[in-house]
Amino acid sequence: MRSSEFEALLDVSARVGADAALVQAAGGNTSIKEGGTLWIKASGLWLMQARQRDVMVPVALDALLDALERDDPSTEKAQDFVIKDRNPSGLRPSIETTVHALMPQKVVIHVHCVETIATAVQVNGETIAASRLGGIPHVFVPYARPGLPLAKAIAARIRPDTSVLVLGNHGLAVAAETVAEAELLLADVSRRLALPRRAAPDADLDALSRLAVDSSFALPEDSRIHDVATDLASCRIAAGGSLYPDHVIFLGRGSFVAAPGDTAASIEERHRAEGATVPPALLFPGKGVLVSKEITAGGLALARCLSDVLGRIGEGARLRYLTDAENAELLGWDAEKYRQELNRAGKALQ
Ligand SMILES: [Zn+2]
Repeated sequence: MRSSEFEALLDVSARVGADAALVQAAGGNTSIKEGGTLWIKASGLWLMQARQRDVMVPVALDALLDALERDDPSTEKAQDFVIKDRNPSGLRPSIETTVHALMPQKVVIHVHCVETIATAVQVNGETIAASRLGGIPHVFVPYARPGLPLAKAIAARIRPDTSVLVLGNHGLAVAAETVAEAELLLADVSRRLALPRRAAPDADLDALSRLAVDSSFALPEDSRIHDVATDLASCRIAAGGSLYPDHVIFLGRGSFVAAPGDTAASIEERHRAEGATVPPALLFPGKGVLVSKEITAGGLALARCLSDVLGRIGEGARLRYLTDAENAELLGWDAEKYRQELNRAGKALQ
């Protein structure tokens, strides 16, 4: 029998998961601690499916926390701590399970809120967050790769009363004793961190259609995806590199900005000649974006996220891009390979 709070968490999960301003693709996760068990969203599944299928995995909380305390590498995936006889679907716990375990409150909601990310990628993100979250016990955690490094960074900063984590170059976690309180806190924090969004010019669909001729690229259905290229300030920011992990996971490293004279076909040909992977999205400055006909549902969600985040970053803002090493570790990481596989397999989800 599930508790009413567990049911309430599934409702909130489905709601939050369906809000593109909070969660994109298989990102974001929720959890509840009940009787020594941490129920956490499964890796690779979409939070918005919380009411349609089994998405929660039971994990032995104390054993996981003990292992974290001794820096046990098995906490990286938390797979060893799954309570197998209560996990009939054989799900794997989220790679961010340790974020949830380290917050002592009963309910934790972790999201890739675009308002938070737009602040959390700035060099002075911590100061901006502090100025807006007065009265809320919060901590800014500088970027660390999700998994054990992020768990360590959180453990080093969290205080007993911390209810909000602003995760540098990543997102937001809120925690409370009830599902209703957690949902209210999430709404309050994302409202406080809200930033004005620049209006982006319309895409030049005729020009984009011509640029797509004889290529494996097409116009995206979601017209907001174009904003990152039609708004030249956003396009300049995108050209600087990757800013948060799920961008790298679902779209690859950085963003491809086309040069004058480039067409999708010429870009493809150039990449193939160099033996390089063709990027899933091409930004044509002032015109819009073309996406690969093979792009995954996750790729599309993260392409939209890029427009949503960058359109909120002021032109003069100083940004902290992910370093070469940080990009590489995200792409080479075993736990993420599993998530990427599910992403490819889940292409039909769109
Ligand atoms: Zn995350």
